[in-house]
Amino acid sequence: MSDCIFCKIANGEIPSNTLYEDNDFRIILDISPANPGHTLILPKKHFENVFDVSDSLVKDAFLLAKKTACALMDLGFAEGVNILQNNGEAAGQTVGHFHIHVIPRKKDDGVTIKSEVFEVSEEEMGRIAKTIFKALN
Ligand code: 5GP
Ligand code: ZN
Repeated sequence: MSDCIFCKIANGEIPSNTLYEDNDFRIILDISPANPGHTLILPKKHFENVFDVSDSLVKDAFLLAKKTACALMDLGFAEGVNILQNNGEAAGQTVGHFHIHVIPRKKDDGVTIKSEVFEVSEEEMGRIAKTIFKALN
């Protein structure tokens, strides 16, 4: 993808604050961090989002997210960590190149991830669970 910013960053065409690199991934700092140490895990190959990546790449990417989260805790950047991954515009994905956010959190830091609770009846909950259960099992 010649016009993809994350392809260019992941493959070193555009310089970045790189925290880790191997044959398949580059880990960088987010340019607009929610907190200091907000990190992005980028595969070097272009995939739009989670619907396009292989199972093995997802596994490797999340293992790197875990490793990064542990480092952020150990180094004192975080007291807790959000691991987030947006897929599609409706879900807030703004860069169409699969990536995982690792966001360091401190108690009462004011960063908001969760919105208001959506009211769903018990009956509706049951219907939703049954529909998804059928697809997953
Ligand atoms: P999304 O909303 O797609 O899940 O997240 C995209 C993230 O990429 C945002 O948090 C945004 O700040 C970050 N970002 C966008 N452009 C750049 C860039 O050129 N360099 C870096 N380091 N991060 C970027
Ligand atoms: Zn790309």
